[in-house]
This record gives sequence, C-alpha cells and structure tokens, in this order.
Amino acid sequence: MEPTPRSTVRRLAQLAVYDPGTIASVLDAGLVAHVGIHYQGAPVVIPMAYARVGDTLYVHGSTASRMMRALKTGDAVCVTVTLIDGIVLARSAFNMSMNYRAVVVHGHARLVTDPGERMTAFRAIMDHYVPGHWDEVRAPSDQELRQTLVTALPLDEASAKVSSGPPDDEEADLELRVWAGEIPIRTVAGTPTPDGNVQAGVQAPASVSHYSREFGVVEGPGI
Ligand SMILES: Cc1cc2nc3c(=O)[nH]c(=O)nc-3n(C[C@H](O)[C@H](O)[C@H](O)COP(=O)(O)OP(=O)(O)OC[C@H]3O[C@@H](n4cnc5c(N)ncnc54)[C@H](O)[C@@H]3O)c2cc1C
Repeated sequence: MEPTPRSTVRRLAQLAVYDPGTIASVLDAGLVAHVGIHYQGAPVVIPMAYARVGDTLYVHGSTASRMMRALKTGDAVCVTVTLIDGIVLARSAFNMSMNYRAVVVHGHARLVTDPGERMTAFRAIMDHYVPGHWDEVRAPSDQELRQTLVTALPLDEASAKVSSGPPDDEEADLELRVWAGEIPIRTVAGTPTPDGNVQAGVQAPASVSHYSREFGVVEGPGI
C-alpha cells in the first residue's frame, strides 16, 4: 500500500515494508496489540487481544471498558504489534540493536453492530490464539453478547518495519576482541495443563493437544 505522511517510516527507512501481505503476516504472528487513543485529552495505550480478518483488525472488550468506549467514538487510534526475534549484540554499545517485526496501524475504528460480523470477530479473535477452538467451546449467550463491544479498524494506513541479520559494526570495531552476534528470542507454547474441574474422560481437544506456537524466523528481506 502507498504510505501516507504519517505512516512513512523515516529512521532506517530501508527496513520499512508497506506490502499488505507482510503487514498481515506480522499481525497474524503477534499476540498483543497495543491500542493507543486520546481519552479526555491525554494519550492512553492499552494492551489487548485482537485478530485480523482480511484487511480489518478487530478488538473486543467489555461495554464498561474505557478503551472500547473510546474506540467506538471513531476518534483517531493507533495500534502497534511487535515481535522480537533477537537481541543483536555488536562490538560497541552504540550498535547494539534488536531484530524485530513491527506493525503500526493508523486510523479510525468503527463499532461493529452487525450480528454476523460480530460473531466473525469473536471467532477470529479466539482462533487467532488457538486455531479451531471456537468450535470446541460453548457459544456466547445473549447476555454475554450484550456485555461485549467489538470494533473494526481498517488496515488501509499501516506500515511494517522488519529488522533482521547480524550486527552492523563499524569497520574499525571488527578487530576488537569483543563477542558479537545474535541471541535469538522465541515465544513458545508450554505443555497444556488442565484445570481442576475437567470432567472425567474429557480429553484436550485437537486444538489444544496439538498446540504449539513459535514465531517464525525472518528469512531474507520479507517474512
Ligand atoms: C495480553 C492482554 C490481552 C488483553 N485483551 C483484552 C481484550 O481483548 N479486551 C479487553 O477489553 N481487555 C483486554 N485486556 C485488558 C486490558 O489491557 C485492560 O486492562 C482492560 O481493558 C481494562 O480496561 P478498563 O476500562 O478497566 O481500564 P482503563 O480505564 O482503560 O485503564 C485505567 C488505567 O488502568 C491501568 N491499566 C489498564 N489496563 C492495564 C493493563 N493491562 N496493565 C497495566 N495497567 C493497566 C492504566 O493505568 C490505565 O490508564 C488485555 C490485557 C492483556 C495484558
């Protein structure tokens, strides 16, 4: 997509990626959206669950949530999702950095009122975390639905920034007797643990028993 003045990466602009596929892949690999909005004149950034469906980013929350109430006004919002792939150690303090994939989305959210789209968003958010799990749990009741707001943010003003590879040392520093390289960072799923109330004979469903999640490694300039 064509960057706008505010979605144009300025520092290390060579790391910028505006291709919707790359933006989508970072959003799909992420776990937490940091949602920023002005509330009563002051900025606030709140971590939230989310999901991408096509070119829309959905978040949901309680009707009592200050963030959800702020989002539904349609005020300007900024959402970031960040994946840390590694800590990059250079031979100098100055050149230490991180390998990462990050997305920043600018725009205005709309309140989702259509029951079908709301259900799509609920399913997508759950399946973003545990694919297939929506079909394995009790569906929301009418009362639960009344207590939950859903907002949709279009992904038409977004940027990705992707940093990968070894440290970028000064030529003169390469002769220093200092270790340099990368400490890879990964988020991995542990062994699922049942709570104390799982009924006798109930096994973990496939979505849980086969669950494993590791953020993908950046290969080459793309994802
Ligand atoms: C990984 C993750 C996923 C989440 N997913 C959702 C979601 O999908 N939907 C949802 O509604 N909520 C989600 N939350 C909770 C969310 O971050 C807020 O705590 C929640 O929306 C409460 O809103 P509020 O209106 O009570 O607080 P607000 O009025 O929004 O916040 C009041 C103040 O409380 C403090 N505060 C609020 N939340 C946090 C926090 N998480 N950590 C530290 N301080 C905080 C801040 O100082 C803030 O200014 C998630 C949190 C995490 C960490």
